[in-house]
Amino acid sequence: MTQPLKIYNSLARQKELFQPLSPPHVGLYVCGPTVYNYVHLGNLRTFLTFDILYRYLTHIGYKVRYVRNITDVGHLVGDGDEGEDKIGRMAKLEKLEPMEIVQRYTNDFHQVLEQLNFRTPSIEPTATGHLIEQIEAVKDLIDKGLAYESNGSVYFDINRYNSAGNNYGKLSGRVLEDLLTETRELEGTSEKRNPLDFAIWKKAAPEHIMQWESPWGKGFPGWHLECTCMSTKYLGKQFDIHGGGMDLKFPHHECEIAQGTGLNGTDPVRYWMHSNMLTVNGQKMSKSLGNSFLPVELFAGNHPLLDQAYSPMTSRFFMLQSQYRSTLDFSNDALKGAQKAYKRIINGLKAIKSLTYIPAEVADSSNIPGLKVSTPGVKIDEKKVEDIQKSVQGFYDAMNDDLNTAVAIAQLFNMLKYINMLYLNQLNPAALGEEGFALLKEKYVLFTEEVLGLKEEKTENDAVLSGMLDLYREYKSAQQYDKVDRIRSYFKAQNLVIRDMKHRIDWAYEE
Ligand code: AMP
Ligand code: ZN
Repeated sequence: MTQPLKIYNSLARQKELFQPLSPPHVGLYVCGPTVYNYVHLGNLRTFLTFDILYRYLTHIGYKVRYVRNITDVGHLVGDGDEGEDKIGRMAKLEKLEPMEIVQRYTNDFHQVLEQLNFRTPSIEPTATGHLIEQIEAVKDLIDKGLAYESNGSVYFDINRYNSAGNNYGKLSGRVLEDLLTETRELEGTSEKRNPLDFAIWKKAAPEHIMQWESPWGKGFPGWHLECTCMSTKYLGKQFDIHGGGMDLKFPHHECEIAQGTGLNGTDPVRYWMHSNMLTVNGQKMSKSLGNSFLPVELFAGNHPLLDQAYSPMTSRFFMLQSQYRSTLDFSNDALKGAQKAYKRIINGLKAIKSLTYIPAEVADSSNIPGLKVSTPGVKIDEKKVEDIQKSVQGFYDAMNDDLNTAVAIAQLFNMLKYINMLYLNQLNPAALGEEGFALLKEKYVLFTEEVLGLKEEKTENDAVLSGMLDLYREYKSAQQYDKVDRIRSYFKAQNLVIRDMKHRIDWAYEE
């Protein structure tokens, strides 16, 4: 592809030029949610990172197969090998079928992602839909001598894996000896040859509601195995990019590398990408810390941490204002700033969409609404055109630099400057020339809508608003100013403003 995209590969611990295995195809796998509860804003930050990646890869011409799974079994409370299944536990608490829990929170997840204008993945497989593949993988690992059965459970054998020349810990940088010291006190590790061995199949106690028949008795798959099986099935033994939140590096992704390498004799992933955490007063936002809030609470503004409601697009914009590898701290001030900035961007989008470049020779004779080049002989302002070209390239450079959306947005604001000048009639479009104008319009719309996934949040029907503006014009020319003011206040109540300019009367979002 034409864009030299660099991404930070957590495995190599550096930015690397992205070179897919078989261009123009790209295989992308992202660990999806465990659907036992509502997603919080922190979870969404991670998914947003990969929505942007998916959008950008597509924008620059790749054909992406994007697989994001739904974890509906095997993820235990505490993220380890012991304890209750998160979904099973919720099902018991709410006296529901586990699949009712799964359906409820999957629906919620989808609804929230739609509100935030996420693109849907190409495939969204579930762990329970891939039990056969998981049982086969367990058998295969046992046959290869990399796993062993113990009391109805099956564990991955870290020592055997490492003695075959592998390095468990290479992604997270964990050292086995340190891990052993940390793990020593843990209970329930006696079935294991080495306390670091992890479960790929777990024997189910009779009260464990989610269980299946297997060659090792009734049980359920280990959490890490599903991602190995589903990514291999849909993307191959080795694929391009695997993503997830920073907190999944260990043990989840480390175990995925071990399983994939053990099963297929090849490192499963070329580029590992990890998104940093959304924090609240410096602490990771998480359900267990009690500092998380739900998207619905954010959109309605009904949570003690929130001063006001913030719309889905404001929330999206807020998260895009920082690069995905830096932490992002939630604050009302930052969100209020994001609200203002988002509205400026969207007013620009509305403005540029309403402008059409009409060459000087046709301008005078045509009745085409929109922008007219009424001043023949206006010279092209090379400096301005160059500045627009620089901003466009700057946007690509920022995205190519490990998806630096923060810098990319700054470039968009530079383009917005020219859009506003055109809109306010302070700049004659002829000064940009037809090509300069087209570049500005095309790229601004594509960057905003296609790459960043920002869209207008309509509160009112366009036809109604334009009818109101007709009345405004009529009342104004009839000098009925009380009615003019009433129309203005109607707009204001909807957080809209009437832009009464010499050359044009229009409405915009109040910034
Ligand atoms: P889970 O449903 O717990 O498996 O988490 C879904 C995704 O959200 C994972 O990729 C986590 O790494 C990510 N995640 C959880 N908490 C946060 C947070 N505070 N900020 C960013 N990502 C998070
Ligand atoms: Zn996973």
